[in-house]
This record gives sequence, C-alpha cells and structure tokens, in this order.
Amino acid sequence: MNSTHRQIAVIGGGLSGICSAYFLAAKGYQVAVIERRAHVAEEATFGDSGLLAPGRVRGMATFACRFQDEPRVLLASGADFGRRRWMRQTRQAQQHEFAENKLRLSRLSAYGQGLTLQLQAHHNMEHENGNGVLHLFRQPAEAARMPHLQEAAQQCEFKHQALDATAIRTLEPAFSSEAKLAGALYYPDDMAGNCVLFAKQMRNAAQELGVSFHFDSTVRTLSADFGGRVSLLLESPHLASHMQVDAVVVAAGMSSARLLQPLDTVLPLRALQSYSALVPVKNPDDAPSMALYDDSYKVAMTRLGGRIRISGLLGFVPPSQTLPPKALRNLLKIAGDYYPNAANYNQAHFWSNTMALLPHGLPVLGPTRQGNVFVNVGHGATGWAATVGSARLLSDLMAGEEPEIPTDGLLPRDLLG
Ligand SMILES: Cc1cc2nc3c(=O)[nH]c(=O)nc-3n(C[C@H](O)[C@H](O)[C@H](O)COP(=O)(O)OP(=O)(O)OC[C@H]3O[C@@H](n4cnc5c(N)ncnc54)[C@H](O)[C@@H]3O)c2cc1C
Repeated sequence: MNSTHRQIAVIGGGLSGICSAYFLAAKGYQVAVIERRAHVAEEATFGDSGLLAPGRVRGMATFACRFQDEPRVLLASGADFGRRRWMRQTRQAQQHEFAENKLRLSRLSAYGQGLTLQLQAHHNMEHENGNGVLHLFRQPAEAARMPHLQEAAQQCEFKHQALDATAIRTLEPAFSSEAKLAGALYYPDDMAGNCVLFAKQMRNAAQELGVSFHFDSTVRTLSADFGGRVSLLLESPHLASHMQVDAVVVAAGMSSARLLQPLDTVLPLRALQSYSALVPVKNPDDAPSMALYDDSYKVAMTRLGGRIRISGLLGFVPPSQTLPPKALRNLLKIAGDYYPNAANYNQAHFWSNTMALLPHGLPVLGPTRQGNVFVNVGHGATGWAATVGSARLLSDLMAGEEPEIPTDGLLPRDLLG
C-alpha cells in the first residue's frame, strides 16, 4: 500500500466512483465518496441499458464519427465549433491508433465483465443477468462491416457467429418474422443485466469495507496544498466546507473536466446525450430473453426481469434541450420492430442523461499532473464493464501494484502528453 495516500476522497457516486472506492477500501485505504445527489447512481449510471458486452465493443471514436455522418435519430444542428474540433481530434485519434485502441477497450471490457461476475458471486448479489447479445444490421451497407467485426472478435478471442433471421428465431422464438435484416452477429458470451442494481449493491459492499458516503454534497473546487495534501471546497449540509485528504479520485462524469482544469489537466470530454425508455413486459413468451443492439439506429434493448429497457443516442446536443417526441417514438418503434407484442410500449417511462466521451474512445484513469489527484472518467457507452475494469486498475496503480492487464493508452499522460 502506498502509505502517502491513506485518506482518499472519491468525487462522484456513479458506478465509476463506487467501484473505485470499493477497490481502494479493499486495499486498506480510508475512503469517503462525495456525491452531489441524494443517492448513488442517479446520473449516467441510472440510464445504463445494461449491456455488459465486450464482444460488441467498438471504438466509440469511430462510432461517434459515424453517428455524426449518419444521424438516424437527431443531431444538434447549426455551427458548433467545439463539437467540430472534437470530431477532428476524434478522427485523428482514430486514424493513428484506432485498431490498437479497439483492442485496448475490448481487453478492458472483458476484464471488467469478468470482475463484475466475480463481485456478484463473491457478495452473493441479486442480479438480472441474461446471456447473449445480438448485433443487428438493417441495411446491406451496414452488414458489409460484419466480416471486419468478426475478424476483430476473432483477434480478441470473443465467441461470435453470423446469423440469419431464421437462426435468430431458433434462439429467440419471439423475434418478429416481419423484422427486415441485412445481417446479424451473435455474441454468446456477451451479457446484459441491471447496472443500477449492481451499482447499489456495490455501494453496500463498499460500505461494509468501511467506505463512507456523503450525499447532497458538491465539490466546488480542488487545490493542491503544501505538504502533499489536497483541499476540497464543498457545499454540503453535513460536511465542513473545507476538507483535506491525502489523495483525490475524480470520477464526476462530465464535471471532471471543470474540477481538473485549475490543476493543469485539461480533459477534452464531450457529452453525448442518450436517452432510455423503460417498459413493462406484457407477454413473457413474446419478450426477448437476450439483449440486442440495432446498429442502424444505435439503439440497445435489454430485458431486466419484468421490464425492458430501450436506450438510444441523441448526439452532441445541449443537455437542457427537451427530448423531441419523434426521438421518443422512434425508440419504441425500433423495439416494436423486433418484439411487437413483448411490452406495453404506451406505458414507457423516459429518461435522459449524458455520457462522457473522450476523442480516443477510451476512458482515462490514473494520476494527473497533480500527482495525488487521480481520475477515472470517459467510459462512454461501454461504461459498465469498462468502469469496473478501470476502477480495479486505478486502485492497483494507486497502491503501487502491478495491474493484471496493461494500462498503456489509458493513462492521462497517454491522452494529454
Ligand atoms: C441512456 C444511457 C444508456 C447507457 N447504456 C449503457 C450500456 O448499455 N452499457 C454500458 O456499458 N454503458 C452504458 N452507458 C454508459 C454508462 O452508463 C456510463 O459510462 C457509466 O455509468 C458512467 O459512470 P460514471 O460513474 O463515470 O458517471 P455517472 O454515473 O454520471 O456518475 C458521476 C457522478 O458524479 C457526481 N458528481 C458530478 N460532479 C460532482 C461534484 N462536483 N461533486 C459531487 N458529485 C459530483 C454526479 O452527480 C454523478 O452521480 C449508458 C449511459 C446512458 C446515459
């Protein structure tokens, strides 16, 4: 254990902060999580559709570019020079290191999926896990990417299989015979589950290890103190306005960039707005047993016990923008295309939030320029698996231990130079 970081404050009670706190406490650190909301998992983690799917992982960078070129749902219009600059950086990152980054993200996600299953078993957690993810392509031009995706899956040793609609119905008898498909890939070892349920139980597990959680408490600023400590300026009904600790982990989603900027760490985070619908299952026999991802619309559909969650991406739109009714209707229509009788789609509850994305499509974890301020953000749409994996790697780095998988490409210095 690195004895200079005995007391650690983790900023953010989403999955990233909770898991970072858990793994650090397991190594013997004294950890406090500071969260501005009243509970854990109320922001990006809350909307997670639950895909725990390393096989389906694609570099979010490519994905973001394709999304901009081909907006199927909605994308902000008008000139947004910040967004254009970010997309340019994204393309550059993609050209230089795309294949390498895809491998890194796949490796991290597979590691995170394995850890998640171990944690669920070790803590005897309740779960709603289901096996198998279908990756569906509506258009021939999209399905033309299948050989390339299969090659990538092969390289990472992920089980996969190309299926036609008849073969899908053998696996999923409720899959609509009317659904028009140009191709499908099936990943039997990919999974889907209830990410929020996992996050809440991880909070309990962290508390059992001694982690304290402080809600309704917002960190306003961070500053480096003489003597190697870090000061936090807080707004909280029950904490003092000033806290001093040996080290800080910033796992505050999009707010991480603002908190780190005064410490000479400029994170090029962009907020990708996504939204989800939760619908009650109407007929269990007509409902999916495995998850699917519609490549054409970038929509995921997962079964969570007696409910189905459908999630999509709106693009780089300002978070304040109200959800367009057309996009909401689209979400339900897409689910209905595949499983028309599965759910009471007219009883949908909608929700939206942003996920933090970096141009290279990878999360960033580890020490910032301010050596005792650490970061763990940018997990994007592969957030569940990548978050758990990153949290474990971060705790290993902070303890001065050798991580179980390579961290190259994931460290702040790899991103920021
Ligand atoms: C609709 C949707 C669907 C998704 N689907 C999937 C999926 O199927 N599979 C998958 O792997 N990933 C998915 N993701 C992504 C995944 O949910 C995220 O990558 C992951 O949950 C990020 O966790 P986080 O802890 O970094 O962020 P968050 O959950 O946003 O947590 C950050 C926390 O920091 C707190 N905070 C911020 N600033 C401060 C401050 N100054 N002081 C105190 N607290 C602060 C916030 O209140 C928040 O609770 C989805 C995301 C969305 C939005």
